[in-house]
Amino acid sequence: MSATAIVGANWGDEGKGKTTDYLAVEADFVVRFQGGGNAGHTIINNYGKFVLHLLPSGVFYPGVVNVLGPGVALNISTFLKELDLLVRNGVPEPTLRISTRAQVILPYHLLLDKYEEERLNKQQFGSTQQGIAPFYADKYLKVGVQVADLFEADRLRQRLAMALTTKNVFFEHLYHRPTLSVDELMPGLLQAGERIKPFVCDTTSLLHEALRQNKRILLEGQLGALRDPDHGIYPYSTSSSPLAGFAAVGAGIPPYAIQRIVAVVKAYSSCVGTGPFVTELLGPEGDELRNRGGDDGEYGATTGRPRRVGWFDAVATRYGCRVQGATEVALTLLDVLGYRDEIPVCVAYEVEGEVVEEFPTSATLDRARPIFEYWPGWQSDISEARTFEDLPKNAQVYTHKIETLIGVPIKWISVGPTREAMIMKN
Ligand code: GDP
Repeated sequence: MSATAIVGANWGDEGKGKTTDYLAVEADFVVRFQGGGNAGHTIINNYGKFVLHLLPSGVFYPGVVNVLGPGVALNISTFLKELDLLVRNGVPEPTLRISTRAQVILPYHLLLDKYEEERLNKQQFGSTQQGIAPFYADKYLKVGVQVADLFEADRLRQRLAMALTTKNVFFEHLYHRPTLSVDELMPGLLQAGERIKPFVCDTTSLLHEALRQNKRILLEGQLGALRDPDHGIYPYSTSSSPLAGFAAVGAGIPPYAIQRIVAVVKAYSSCVGTGPFVTELLGPEGDELRNRGGDDGEYGATTGRPRRVGWFDAVATRYGCRVQGATEVALTLLDVLGYRDEIPVCVAYEVEGEVVEEFPTSATLDRARPIFEYWPGWQSDISEARTFEDLPKNAQVYTHKIETLIGVPIKWISVGPTREAMIMKN
């Protein structure tokens, strides 16, 4: 019985999609266990370039069963659109399963997200406006709607009526917007239920049976450790836990089934949205890294917003790996740094004259300044390297030194956005 979690050690956008797509060749199941359409996993393979928001990254392998577990925030229209886009681009129809217990993003979640960001104005969090925060708030307020409710009209009516009682007070009196009625929501939701019905099943039983049969399961996290509501940079966090520790809960498998935790670590830093970001690079240096980063510059896969960028932050990444419980690391986007003759790496923070090596809480983080070491660059294109020995000496040294700083073995090094551009390091 074994499952592997693939999770982010930073702020998200570390290349989890690429890593999952690479590792899924040996998987039987790929499971999304939290989050919804609020982040995008970019995958470039023989079918083309895709940004998956909700579908698990195993969808390109016909033999893989792709599961949306109970912890996922299911936006049905995003799900159907993504599926349609894949098939229209020649990807064989993937096998998909949606948990009866997953909850559904409802039209008022999207509205509430938008109106609240507008109301907060300059103090907004930079929400992707996918309804995620209002969705999870409703889940824990116990007024959410499970997928199974979409097939029980009377029950669905009751659930919506209960939720709308308070939502409409907000719409009318706080946001000064039109209210919503159960009658106007019902037809769309019943129809959406019918459209996803072929995919819906008890995924918890499915995965337990898979474990019993020794099938290989990948659990694909969204965003990164620093966005965790408990352990991340609160309140600049997301609303569900992107930690491997939560993967068992959100997928519905035993915690002890997760034997490997691959933390995806970016060779530099990037961050979308507001909040403290200690190694942030502003000005032309930042613009250059942003334009050279990712597969086509560092711009949000969901929003298209420019990502904030900075140098590698060992304090944050060591902490990210720790809270993920990483057993191994995939170091990604190393190729991007090939233009530098010298690469700054943040090895500690300075807070009011003191050297800090443990990642602090948000209040202290606001006052933290980076302490940099300057490591020699390799000034060459490494995107064709396929073995560790193919890498220039200084790129090998960069990798070894990062491994030492974060204290977790680096097992893979990604040197380009495509599936093949991956080095297995012994
Ligand atoms: P995810 O959400 O963690 O899957 O990451 P995103 O897809 O949001 O962002 C990662 C970006 O980096 C995407 O544009 C990927 O195509 C790209 N990418 C992933 N790995 C590499 C790599 O090793 N090198 C380069 N140059 N780009 C990469």
